[in-house]
Amino acid sequence: MKRNILIHPDPRLKKLCEPVADLSDELRALADDMLETMYDAPGIGLAAPQVGVMQRLIVLDCVKGESEAPRPLVMFNPRLLASSDETNTYEEGCLSIPDQYAEVTRPKVVDVEWIDRDGKVKTETFDGLWATCVQHEIDHLDGKLFIDYLKPLKRQMITRKMVKLKKELAREKV
Ligand code: ZN
Repeated sequence: MKRNILIHPDPRLKKLCEPVADLSDELRALADDMLETMYDAPGIGLAAPQVGVMQRLIVLDCVKGESEAPRPLVMFNPRLLASSDETNTYEEGCLSIPDQYAEVTRPKVVDVEWIDRDGKVKTETFDGLWATCVQHEIDHLDGKLFIDYLKPLKRQMITRKMVKLKKELAREKV
């Protein structure tokens, strides 16, 4: 089932999310819904607070092009174990900040630990776009958006556009 994606500004996108204590069927179903919502958008990552659930859960799939098999990843309680000094700059976007893109510099390589859909602890080293994406999604769990890395003026400009967009969307619903 597709879920509704919250649009910035929303207080739920600024909050710290709770660790997942018990991997229930309900949470697995949520992860499946989030993957469906992400692929449909389309996007390469989605965090639970973006669908209004304040728990530490992210999904991602950064495989590009139709020739490669998809690689959906479900991460409960993801955390960074290590980050490289070397950095990478990507033009980032966010499903909660539609049609706005800006360059963000982050560590190029990160080691991540998480609990997978079956409750197993996993660790993996991510590089390039995967590394940027997983850091962007983990940030969401700490109430941080990619625009928080930008200069205040740029951030305010984007936020004003989003306020306007939300008003327009609210009007369409009436
Ligand atoms: Zn995002």
